[in-house]
Amino acid sequence: MARRPRCPGRSGSEGSGGPPGRRPPRRRRARQNPAALAEHRDRAVVVGAGPNGLAAAIALARAGRAVTVLEGADTAGGGCRSAELTLPGFVHDTCATVHALALASPFLRTLPLAAHGFVPVHPDAPLAHPLDDGTAAMLERSVDRTAVGLGPDEAAYRRTFAPLARDAGVLFAQVLGPLRRPRHPRALARFGVDAVRPAETLARSRFRGERARALFAGCAAHAMLPLDAPVSAAFGLVLAMAAHAVGWPVARGGSQRLADALAAHLRTLGGTIGEISRQSWNMMYGIAMMTPTISATCT
Ligand SMILES: Cc1cc2nc3c(=O)[nH]c(=O)nc-3n(C[C@H](O)[C@H](O)[C@H](O)COP(=O)(O)OP(=O)(O)OC[C@H]3O[C@@H](n4cnc5c(N)ncnc54)[C@H](O)[C@@H]3O)c2cc1C
Repeated sequence: MARRPRCPGRSGSEGSGGPPGRRPPRRRRARQNPAALAEHRDRAVVVGAGPNGLAAAIALARAGRAVTVLEGADTAGGGCRSAELTLPGFVHDTCATVHALALASPFLRTLPLAAHGFVPVHPDAPLAHPLDDGTAAMLERSVDRTAVGLGPDEAAYRRTFAPLARDAGVLFAQVLGPLRRPRHPRALARFGVDAVRPAETLARSRFRGERARALFAGCAAHAMLPLDAPVSAAFGLVLAMAAHAVGWPVARGGSQRLADALAAHLRTLGGTIGEISRQSWNMMYGIAMMTPTISATCT
């Protein structure tokens, strides 16, 4: 093999192409071959076929990239998977069950998920919070009907959630969409003043009765943060607002249907989903750093 000339005036492997006989670094190869660089720029690899990975892959495919999603598990879906965990024919969601945020998401709303089999099924009331006395605090689609069931907190609940339910569209665009300058600063400020507080502080200061406090705490607990942590109130506000604005549906046939619909839509855009073992990932990452393309077993 002919030896490559070393770069005059430079030493060491950095920027010099390394020891004689080795391939020059990727950046230099790309400069030498603009077509390869263009092809490289048109490719994208997403690691993880959870709902966010699939959504990112769809956004990239829509932008004209050739996208491959690499998934370490046997099936796509991540926290949005279903499986027969008990008896044959009984489908269980292994993680996420309620898809309020899928309906609220400004991005997912633009996708033809129904055409790919995602059918949200709404219960009569989005949620009920059971209490020690054997009754339950009900969160209904209507703010008014919910407030009426909350005794001494009827007015406080209405004051808190009527504006949020009214402004839900603009708030979801702001809090679930890409970071951008607020387009509706008043609505966002009203939400933000409560959202930054710990859920416990907000519940105790805003509501007097057990029912409203429990209902709000149950929603806020989805934060997976202690209820006295700052910003934990945001989760309670967003999830209750979503219950009023879009409902708390489950997916007919299980959450896997949502992941499958995202995957199916990605495939219509030319994207592929490949399997990769987690152990292989570090090696693949290393290869990706050195070569412009990644080969994977694609479905
Ligand atoms: C118990 C529980 C209940 C929940 N309930 C709800 C609910 O009802 N409603 C709701 O909206 N949300 C719910 N969530 C949250 C929801 O599951 C997550 O927000 C969502 O799954 C996040 O999606 P993601 O794509 O970011 O990550 P994930 O869903 O975690 O997906 C990540 C994917 O990447 C893969 N992966 C990771 N590392 C590698 C690697 N190195 N190589 C290859 N593949 C890799 C994983 O196998 C996985 O498939 C719940 C979460 C939990 C834990």
